[in-house]
Amino acid sequence: MNNIFKIQEIDGEIIKLKRSINNSIENKQLNMLSDIMREGKSFIKQTENSAEQLLKEFNELKRDYEKQFGNSEITLKQKIENTSIDNIHNLIVDTNGLAGNFAEMEQMSKNLNERIQRLLNDYKSAMTKLKITKEKYNFLKEKVSKLEQGVQPQVEKFKEQIAVLAKDADPEMYEIYKKLRQDNVYPVFVRLENNRCGGCKMEMSLNFIEKLKGKKMLHCEECRRIIINDSK
Ligand SMILES: [Zn+2]
Repeated sequence: MNNIFKIQEIDGEIIKLKRSINNSIENKQLNMLSDIMREGKSFIKQTENSAEQLLKEFNELKRDYEKQFGNSEITLKQKIENTSIDNIHNLIVDTNGLAGNFAEMEQMSKNLNERIQRLLNDYKSAMTKLKITKEKYNFLKEKVSKLEQGVQPQVEKFKEQIAVLAKDADPEMYEIYKKLRQDNVYPVFVRLENNRCGGCKMEMSLNFIEKLKGKKMLHCEECRRIIINDSK
């Protein structure tokens, strides 16, 4: 029984060492850069989608232009072949219409050109930013990995101590311990403190307390930790 609490205590030291790295400035900056990189990649993806959209608009405009250009050729042909005064009058109306259409298309083309330029600039600056962020990220990752290497001997020492203690630990309890630790539960084993769970401090029902008296241990109904009956 005592062994399992001792194991838990030493395991707590390992958790503290790991937490100190997780809470280090280097690791926090690393997480921040990772977020920035994710946002950058999603922005680049968006610009790629916008590029596809612009390409579609360009092709539509090109089609319109070719259609209008075809019309203008027909108009000019008519002009040469049929020179009666009535037709000439109609042609003025037609050519005015064509000129208007071309002017509109020219404006659209300019507008499209500006949007493509803007998109390219956005894309280039996003790529540059991503590259710089990635360099910083790799640099910090190296630093965090050094921190981890720094505590590794201590972690190994604790693990060896646990391995020795585990030989004499209650096998059932040790299995439960390992299983709950995998789910990031810590501490796993607690005692009843003034009829409350020693982990989550939830007040236990009289029914639960009675049930515990007859057993070695019971799961807390609130936090899943194991409440130990020391008298068993
Ligand atoms: Zn609890």
